[in-house]
Amino acid sequence: MMTCEKAVGLVSEALDRELTPSELKKVRWHIRLCPACFKYEKQIQLLHDFCVKYGDHICDEVELPEEARTRIKAALESAGSRKE
Ligand SMILES: [Zn+2]
Repeated sequence: MMTCEKAVGLVSEALDRELTPSELKKVRWHIRLCPACFKYEKQIQLLHDFCVKYGDHICDEVELPEEARTRIKAALESAGSRKE
């Protein structure tokens, strides 16, 4: 299974480009098994929908900043560490 880091990266990339079928398959699979990444995908899609609705200029402002990514990564790591 791909790592959370990779899955999260691809989820973000999917908003900018079409993922390859194999990438898509791996991401889908990961998200089905990983609640943290599932949540991340929902959040980023909400954000993306918001941007599409209200325009790219807003999207530029609300685009996931490095700090948010770090926060999500930390959340993912703590979620992972709770697993045995
Ligand atoms: Zn994950």
